[in-house]
Amino acid sequence: MKEILLCKYGEIVLKGANRRYFEETLCKTLRFRAKHYGNFSITRSQSTLVIEPLDDMADIDGMFETASKVFGIVGISRCAVCEKNMESIADTVREYIPQFLIGKKTFKVEAKRSDKRFPLGSIEIAREIGGVVLESVPKLKVDVHHPEIVVQVEIREFGAYIHAGQFKGAGGMPVGSNGKGLLLLSGGIDSPVAGYMIAKRGVQIEAVHFESFPYTSERAREKVFELAREVAQYAGSFNVHVVSLTHIQEELVKTCEEDYFTLLLRRYMMAIADRLAHKLGCGGLITGESLGQVASQTMQAIGVTDPVATLPVFRPCIGLDKEEIVQVARKIGTFETSIQPYEDCCTVFTPKHPRTRPELAKVLEQERKLDFEALVQEALDGAYVEHIRTEF
Ligand code: ATP
Ligand code: MG
Repeated sequence: MKEILLCKYGEIVLKGANRRYFEETLCKTLRFRAKHYGNFSITRSQSTLVIEPLDDMADIDGMFETASKVFGIVGISRCAVCEKNMESIADTVREYIPQFLIGKKTFKVEAKRSDKRFPLGSIEIAREIGGVVLESVPKLKVDVHHPEIVVQVEIREFGAYIHAGQFKGAGGMPVGSNGKGLLLLSGGIDSPVAGYMIAKRGVQIEAVHFESFPYTSERAREKVFELAREVAQYAGSFNVHVVSLTHIQEELVKTCEEDYFTLLLRRYMMAIADRLAHKLGCGGLITGESLGQVASQTMQAIGVTDPVATLPVFRPCIGLDKEEIVQVARKIGTFETSIQPYEDCCTVFTPKHPRTRPELAKVLEQERKLDFEALVQEALDGAYVEHIRTEF
């Protein structure tokens, strides 16, 4: 039996001139992913993308799995295709539909005819196929008002589609339909989630990771690449720019008051990220900050680090509790990697009493002790790039 996928996309974004661009971006992403699962055709039909295997080798399960990680798709139906006559439709329903009805008590059948020449009307098809379902799955009842599952029969030009139940898609907007942003990616729990959340809004990401070798290790860097690969399952392939903060941190320790280390370092991170983002053509920065979570994320502390950036800074986790961030991290598969205990550049040289209500003037006074611009430039000059591919 031939199985295809019907992908539904959201409707709000379909208005006006955006529609074309939106659909093309989505098709491009699906085509790219499809290459890894065999020969598929991907076509549009109303607000649906139809993914059809072109030979027996095509891996429809793999395709289904990957399509459920593509932003812009709200629902995916697995669907059997058969010949357009009642006998063949009934046979397919008997064979294909019971697997979707396991554990269900009520159902109804809905029929649609885009081919109006089909001899039976929608109501007659629904009634007849309802009978077939009742015969094949004992104890099931029809409930036309609140069924647990709807069995759909669609009579199309080239055949009939039969499906039951829609699986949830990744939602959001297609990656690339909403600009490009630079994610500040640490090895923690929050920033991978922030990357996932902004990509869900259609933003194509690049990432910058700060390290402090030899105070941070090779393994800590590997962990960040692993997180990036996990995020890339949703966000698509992207580059991670690795920037060393070692020299800056050593200079800070030598010259500045300990209480201000974290804030000063965060201002350097913002400045470096901002310059890099401009160079890469990004329209904004993204961080995993959540208000009040740690000393450097109070409103005043963010007020001290934010002005360094000339681009807008997006903080998708700002209003989420840690538990809520963890929930997303578990869902997207980054949590287990994030909790591996490797040091981060922020955790080396941490002050005992970080300022939670810093005054900008005092921070600037400390900052002036060093040549800020020269250190930023030096860090940027030493950056290297790791390309992260979506893995299949
Ligand atoms: P996370 O779990 O994302 O590391 P956190 O709660 O540990 O966040 P901080 O360490 O204060 O918080 O970092 C706040 C944000 O700054 C991070 O979410 C991330 O966007 C950025 N950041 C922190 N450390 C790094 C790093 N080493 N490289 C790149 N970005 C970083
Ligand atoms: Mg961190």
